[in-house]
Amino acid sequence: MKKFPRSAYIHIPFCHRRCFYCDFAVIPLGNNIESLNGYGSTTIKEYLTFLKKEILSIKHKSPLSTIYIGGGTPSILDPLQIKDLINLFKENYRIDYGAEITMEVDPASFNEDDLHGFIKAGINRFSLGAQSFNNKILKQAGRRHCSKDVEKSCYWLKRVYDNGLIKSWSLDLIQNLPMSSFKEWQEDLKNSLKFYPPHISIYDLNIEPGTVFQKLIDLGKLSLPNDDDSFKNSEQTNLLLRASGYSRYEISNYSLPGHQSRHNRVYWTGQGWWSFGQGSTSSPWGEKFTRPRISKEYKNWVIKQCEIKLDSSLVNQENIYKELDEKIMLGMRLREGVNIHKLINEQNWNKKKSEIALIKLLKEWERFLESGLLIKRGNRFSLSDHRGMELSNQILISMFKWWEKVN
Ligand code: SF4
Repeated sequence: MKKFPRSAYIHIPFCHRRCFYCDFAVIPLGNNIESLNGYGSTTIKEYLTFLKKEILSIKHKSPLSTIYIGGGTPSILDPLQIKDLINLFKENYRIDYGAEITMEVDPASFNEDDLHGFIKAGINRFSLGAQSFNNKILKQAGRRHCSKDVEKSCYWLKRVYDNGLIKSWSLDLIQNLPMSSFKEWQEDLKNSLKFYPPHISIYDLNIEPGTVFQKLIDLGKLSLPNDDDSFKNSEQTNLLLRASGYSRYEISNYSLPGHQSRHNRVYWTGQGWWSFGQGSTSSPWGEKFTRPRISKEYKNWVIKQCEIKLDSSLVNQENIYKELDEKIMLGMRLREGVNIHKLINEQNWNKKKSEIALIKLLKEWERFLESGLLIKRGNRFSLSDHRGMELSNQILISMFKWWEKVN
């Protein structure tokens, strides 16, 4: 029987302005969105009308156990707008008792009253996009908030968590930003631990084409930590967080016991999810589909999809996604790794092809097993903590080469 997705991602594409490293599908609205009657809010209201149409257009709505409102900057929205969205799911999809309902918040776009409003609306987990506690680093990255905003936001989140008003919260940092040498990074980690967030995400800076950072690099005007510094930063992160009781359950994510992100695990373990909103990607049955990134195109697309009912058109329910390389790549990000034999058997190849593929992959991985970057337990392969996780690229590149040959 077809398993319907139990998770939904909702994309809120608005930001005050674009940060210098960001290439997400966002709409910078400037500062004109503070009041519910401003220009920005009209744009937001119009977008929400289309977003709701898209959410309602799914024919087979399934009960949800995780919802993630991301962006962009969802905390630009009024708590009542968030409540409307959650109610729409409650009334039309149903939300499981104990579901994880996460919302991303940006330190410069909400206050303590808003936070309580979001909680009343049904949010029980927050992800705070702090990125750094250092004013110089934040400014250089084009962030609108300052370290005081981060401290205040952490304080409010810690308080609602300690008072049992939310289940969890995450502090998100970016490692290897310009001006973040070993000393600054250590300070960022220490400042984070003052608030003891149950979950910490640490993303490595990626330089994306078309961003301000890319242009500055081309002009020779941006200096980034070198590879040795980056490795030292990661090593320090691992040591400090482990000593503080965190487990690195995924390459970029650390949590205290019981605080892993249930929603993100859906992506990493290849389970299906709905997704709604401009530029977002859904994968209800395995096949991926990305919506238009441009507002006008997204709106036209919603109108068309409403006419033909989404889940019979944008996704082919018979076409189960079979990209084994992607399954391995995502699964290997997790501490528990992947059962290679099981994944290969799911390919529906004949016995001989499966056996040859497996032998070839094990040959590729032999050197990583010998050097301790990879660990094998029965049929399960995982990256070692911490060297394997740091050098995961080498292992994944060898896997992609293998995939090209066997596919
Ligand atoms: S706030 Fe986040 S989504 Fe918005 S521009 Fe900055 S990095 Fe991108």
